[in-house]
Amino acid sequence: MSELPSSVDVVVVGGGNAAFCAALAAAEKGVSVLVLERAPEDEAGGNSRFTAGAFRCVYDGVEDLRALMPDLTDQEVAVTDFGTYTADTFFDDMGRVTEYRTDPDLCELLVTRSRETMLWMRGKGVRFAPIYGRQAYKVDGRFKFWGGLAVEAWGGGPGLVEALTTAARKAGIQVVYEARAMALIADDDGVKGVRVRHQGRTREVAAKAVVLAAGGFQANTEWRTRYLGPTWELAKIRGTRFNTGDGIEMALKVGAMATGNWSGSHAVGWDRNAPEFGDLAVGDNFQKHSYPWGIMLNANGERFVDEGADFRNYTYAKYGRVILMQPGQFAWQVFDAKIIPMLRDEYRIKQVTKVRADTLEELVQKLDDVNADKALATIKAYNAAVMTDVPFDPNVKDGRGTRGLAVDKTNWANTIDTPPFEAFAVTCGITFTFGGLKVDTSAQVIDTDGRVIPGLCAAGELVGGLFYFNYPGGTGLMAGSVFGRIAGDSAGARAAAM
Ligand SMILES: Cc1cc2nc3c(=O)[nH]c(=O)nc-3n(C[C@H](O)[C@H](O)[C@H](O)COP(=O)(O)OP(=O)(O)OC[C@H]3O[C@@H](n4cnc5c(N)ncnc54)[C@H](O)[C@@H]3O)c2cc1C
Repeated sequence: MSELPSSVDVVVVGGGNAAFCAALAAAEKGVSVLVLERAPEDEAGGNSRFTAGAFRCVYDGVEDLRALMPDLTDQEVAVTDFGTYTADTFFDDMGRVTEYRTDPDLCELLVTRSRETMLWMRGKGVRFAPIYGRQAYKVDGRFKFWGGLAVEAWGGGPGLVEALTTAARKAGIQVVYEARAMALIADDDGVKGVRVRHQGRTREVAAKAVVLAAGGFQANTEWRTRYLGPTWELAKIRGTRFNTGDGIEMALKVGAMATGNWSGSHAVGWDRNAPEFGDLAVGDNFQKHSYPWGIMLNANGERFVDEGADFRNYTYAKYGRVILMQPGQFAWQVFDAKIIPMLRDEYRIKQVTKVRADTLEELVQKLDDVNADKALATIKAYNAAVMTDVPFDPNVKDGRGTRGLAVDKTNWANTIDTPPFEAFAVTCGITFTFGGLKVDTSAQVIDTDGRVIPGLCAAGELVGGLFYFNYPGGTGLMAGSVFGRIAGDSAGARAAAM
């Protein structure tokens, strides 16, 4: 077990993607770096480890992807339309989904540094691969990527955390597990270190700069209810149980400014019977993200949202909240035999809440806690409203909607009429909170008077201002990497100059 030093140049609080990117960038300045991870080693890596490792980054064509993924074969390139994901499209996506509230300076960094940061990570030994499984459909013998998301870390979240940890060790960075930062040591000149609880003892570690990368407050039931609002105490936590807002709280106590969408969060449809916190053996597979091809029914047997409003990448992060606000905080996703083979891999896991039937009448009886008569009537009315003259195409927003329903579906409306039928029960799984600390473009934390707090930087989920209401899939890891690297640069440069 690694011992805590009494002083070091840079302390990084957290053990996820943002923390390790910060630690690696700080170490490039030739200073000593200590990573404090609250979790024991077997649960370490934060939410980053629970992910599939999808990264949203700018690429202007397949050559940009080849630079990132030299393993891409000519054969793969020949059968795949990767398209492009330009900086303009990334900006547009961030603007649209956040209703144009995203902080323009932070958003610009996220977008313009995305590709170079991925290449930098690659240089540190993180490998990437195309996300064929979840982000591309094969049509007429060719894969086509959609939704701005083409790259994932090799080995998903666990592979990412392992690669980053290996890189940190290679760079001489000390990582201490079960080390919970409790408070910042600060005076009028800024932050001078951290108070840490380790092996049952509270100790102080002096530092020239501290980077906070300890995640959001989603795993803190009381804060969830306090800031997100009533009913949020009933959400399940998709990832780590260790992100309870410690980093945010520590910074606020030394005068940091709170910013961003404090009542907002990333939350998705998640198996109704999933455990209270994430399970590393299941990872993100409790999510159920094929709803754009089917319908969702609530306890009243009614549809309540446009399941096909956009590609799942642009709706999934806000639909968890919509499900949480339904009676009983649940919904059933319903599909028929035409769509079942297309369902994402997460629908075929063992730990799934699923019913199956050969008739719609039998199916609705099996939907726990649902008004069966109303559910049957809803499905029939939906079937009658589908624009069957428009062809179904999962690779584009196909415009195959419904006509004349109270809640119309905009795209991918498939009739539910071919047995067998399957339905999956979901509730709300919260991923991370959007509100957090105010930082400048060097990832330095700003105080309530608008001044930099010397020696304090922040990155990852606990930074506020980037996301409001919604989020484009794959941006959390990208933001953690971009701002982690910037925070590490700033902290390392300060320590080197002192
Ligand atoms: C199931 C799931 C799937 C996801 N899939 C994706 C995806 O494919 N792509 C994507 O971009 N995003 C995805 N996300 C979101 C993504 O995980 C986060 O946006 C990102 O990982 C946040 O990185 P981070 O470093 O800020 O936080 P984390 O990775 O959560 O790291 C925070 C760290 O801080 C530690 N910590 C907390 N308190 C303290 C303390 N007091 N002292 C010391 N350490 C502390 C924690 O133990 C943890 O190690 C997913 C999230 C989940 C839960």
